[in-house]
Amino acid sequence: MASGTLTIDLDALTANWRALDRATASGVQTAAVVKADAYGLGITRVVQTLARAGARRFFVAMAEEGAAVRQALGPGPQICVLSGHMAGDTEMIGDLDLTPMLNALDQVTRHLEALPGHAFGVQLDTGMNRLGMEPAEWEALAPYLLEAGPELLMSHLACADDPDHPMNEHQLAQFHAMTDGTGVPRSFAATGGILLGPRYHFDLTRPGIGLYGGRPYEGAATVVTLSLPVIQTRQVEAGEIVGYSATWEAEQPSLIATVAAGYADGLMRGLSNKAVLWDGDVPCPLVGRVSMDMITVDVSHLADLPRSLDILGPYQTVDDLADAAGTIGYEVLTSLGARYTRRYVEPVT
Ligand SMILES: *Cc1c(COP(=O)(O)O)cnc(C)c1O
Repeated sequence: MASGTLTIDLDALTANWRALDRATASGVQTAAVVKADAYGLGITRVVQTLARAGARRFFVAMAEEGAAVRQALGPGPQICVLSGHMAGDTEMIGDLDLTPMLNALDQVTRHLEALPGHAFGVQLDTGMNRLGMEPAEWEALAPYLLEAGPELLMSHLACADDPDHPMNEHQLAQFHAMTDGTGVPRSFAATGGILLGPRYHFDLTRPGIGLYGGRPYEGAATVVTLSLPVIQTRQVEAGEIVGYSATWEAEQPSLIATVAAGYADGLMRGLSNKAVLWDGDVPCPLVGRVSMDMITVDVSHLADLPRSLDILGPYQTVDDLADAAGTIGYEVLTSLGARYTRRYVEPVT
């Protein structure tokens, strides 16, 4: 078999959700963000596991993802749609009991006219300038919208991964100014916001990346292991090259393993000559260019020929790999390829 094995540890996922839940006061609810197929890890298994751990609210980017969560969980849990109520979504929102986070006047009109009495929340822009109502728009609509009974008022931090960034306090003050005294439950913090402390927690937190083992949640348990089979090994002499464009040349006789995964599987081409794979706890450098379906690894120093090498796991987190590629853990996770064989480790508890 030449496909890599992506192991997703649902016990670690559970532990991470519980730890982030414990990081807030008992009155603060912890939701889970499961957009983009639960950051590439498989939305059905992830939401079923988190629901068993105690999560009662899930956030998705679009209504279609909300449909997948509803199918996995059945009635009960609240499913919030961050893109709000888009044209064409009314039937799905109504039939599957999704809760759109309304972002602007056109969505407010669409929602209240098409589904009067149906649950909704409001997303406010406190300075990120990406999604949600600006202060002036909110001020104009608030009397009318508060009368209609939103379930949640939410906003999102632009710089929460940097605790010293002045945007955090600026957005916090703006969120207070826009929502104090409304009496409506509020949500402000994703993973980074949770770590900023209780002033950022409000009534409901929305962690995503921290659940899946990524920064800025440094204490996260490892959720993802990616093991790649060795297809072939060969001896190369000093002066021989390896891979496209001959970007690596052996300085001494070397043993090169060709491993089955490439940029078509989400191993960015920027990892060429930079990443490290692991044989247990022994690092082995990736040499030469990343190809579409293969990478080449220097295994000269290993005592035994490995049958597979790990590129993600306890010795190399999604962030370590992201650093090597010049990107972020979120992109590594959501790029994980469709060709891997996925193996889910069931939670112990
Ligand atoms: C993606 C997202 C989250 C989750 O953020 P993490 O950094 O992954 O914890 C929360 N809220 C909104 C609005 C998002 O877009």
